[in-house]
Amino acid sequence: MKLVLASNNAKKLVELQALFAPLGIELVNQGSLGIPEAEEPFETFAENALTKARHAAKLSGLPALADDSGLSVDALGGAPGVRSARYALDAGGEKSDAANNERLLREMAGIEDRRARFVCALVAVRSADDPEPLIAMGRWSGEILKAPSGEGGFGYDPLMHIPELGQTVASLGATVKNQHSHRALAAVHLIQQFREVWRLG
Ligand code: IMP
Repeated sequence: MKLVLASNNAKKLVELQALFAPLGIELVNQGSLGIPEAEEPFETFAENALTKARHAAKLSGLPALADDSGLSVDALGGAPGVRSARYALDAGGEKSDAANNERLLREMAGIEDRRARFVCALVAVRSADDPEPLIAMGRWSGEILKAPSGEGGFGYDPLMHIPELGQTVASLGATVKNQHSHRALAAVHLIQQFREVWRLG
């Protein structure tokens, strides 16, 4: 089955394609079909992923898959949340991982409760008006350090310490990250639904 991926990120396509290939799924980036990116106006990861999936399905006429992810910090009421990629930009800074990490450290100065989660929503629809979208969530819990550590990964990885693994996500290496991550867990839940509801695999 061919599915449009509502993203233009080539790395995401490779990662998700490998996970879903055993079900007979072939992913196509929406950009290669000339589909522009959708707005992401909502406050939750699931709603944003759903609107992206519906948009891609509507413009392609194909079933679609979308994801939305970010960091949720307990002491900040879930921020940066769906604004994770634009956290520093929202405060007048630049759109970069380094600036986002700096803002996070500033916002958390003096806060002792450092608990946080990476969150990923993966949503699949059979058509733009599918009344039964498949919605899968993955969460990965850790603690925000007071200074970055580690060279790998991207985004908030250098500040996210995973107590069970004794390291930041930026120190784990891609293989270990891909075994434990919020995206991997959401994919496991989605695969289960692809099998049960769409009867794939
Ligand atoms: P997107 O869903 O790929 O657009 O990711 C949104 C933002 O959330 C990214 O720009 C990062 O700031 C953050 N984020 C999502 N996943 C991760 C991750 O695995 N590590 C670190 N930051 C992440």
